[in-house]
Amino acid sequence: MPQCLNPECLTINPDNFQFCQKCGNKLLLVERYWAKSILGLGGFGRTFLAVDEFKPSQPFCVIKQFLPQAQGTATVAKTAELFAQEAERLELLGKHSQIPELFAYFSVDSRQYLVQELVVLLRNGEDT
Ligand SMILES: [Zn+2]
Repeated sequence: MPQCLNPECLTINPDNFQFCQKCGNKLLLVERYWAKSILGLGGFGRTFLAVDEFKPSQPFCVIKQFLPQAQGTATVAKTAELFAQEAERLELLGKHSQIPELFAYFSVDSRQYLVQELVVLLRNGEDT
């Protein structure tokens, strides 16, 4: 059930659809990632649960979508710069255990995206 990544749409589409049935947006992000559902709103934008089509097991991953909120272009540029810095920081930190690894960082339709490892947090005492 691919989820449209267009911030004004966010329609859940039937499986096997390549384009959003409502807005026509391409559903397979950079020909690789299927967004499945919204995980939440972060400081920079939305976070989606996604599937990586390029890996044999098609594992889950996390897509972070940068959404400029501010009206002024200077603020938008500044926020975009911070997002890029965040991406660099995550790439460096991702080699450690508790921090999700950064898989990709790119722009599509003038929106910026991060793709990260999905880290499943086990709560104490519930894993037996
Ligand atoms: Zn759509």
